[in-house]
Amino acid sequence: MDKLYICRNCQYVFPKELSELIKSETQVYCEMCGTPFSLSGVSFRQATVREPGRTIHKPSKYGKTDKERSSLEKAIKNLNKLSNLIKNEVKLNKK
Ligand SMILES: [Zn+2]
Repeated sequence: MDKLYICRNCQYVFPKELSELIKSETQVYCEMCGTPFSLSGVSFRQATVREPGRTIHKPSKYGKTDKERSSLEKAIKNLNKLSNLIKNEVKLNKK
């Protein structure tokens, strides 16, 4: 049986997804009241915006942030540049 993690403030039971983060010692927040989850003897890593790719669970905030979206767009643009470079190289090799 998986261990259940419960918010000390509102007794909200954290879902499996968040329990996994808690197990990996990542700071999570209660989806009901926003209280940071704490466990005695465990120092959680702060999941901040400085760590890209890590999901921060806060109440009433879902989906990607604008910052994430723009970095994704940048990545796609870079990918397009790269594929153009590869195409050009293929053309050169054919000569
Ligand atoms: Zn709570």
